Amino acid sequence: MDVVGARCVIDYALARRAVLTGLASGRIRPEDACDAQVYLRRAARYHGEPTDQLCPVCSVDQLVHVSYAYGECLGSGANGRAWPTRELCAMASELAEFSVFVVEVCLGCGWNHLVTSAVLGTGEAVRRRRSGSRG
Ligand SMILES: [Zn+2]
Repeated sequence: MDVVGARCVIDYALARRAVLTGLASGRIRPEDACDAQVYLRRAARYHGEPTDQLCPVCSVDQLVHVSYAYGECLGSGANGRAWPTRELCAMASELAEFSVFVVEVCLGCGWNHLVTSAVLGTGEAVRRRRSGSRG
């Protein structure tokens, strides 16, 4: 994750590799691993960050990273939404604390897997801006 101040970063490469190994050996069916839902595909199309990595399953399309943010400080409208990385950077410098989950998606075959998760934010207590205050 290319956001300054990211902490509690968890890499899911081992779990990802286990699924890919399962696919290669036939233990996992492609339809169970390549099951990107409509909402995830839509998020990938509109909010995803293209990567230069080829899909490990179909080797045709390039992977797209979708970042979902969760946190009380986001408010109900933004909690659980997908955001472009540049927005996350801005949010990380303004908001106290929120979690981000990055999912890789192939729009071709539907492969999807969690890539990394992290906690972002200034780490400060949430400051509420009072409306109407004259400072
Ligand atoms: Zn694919």
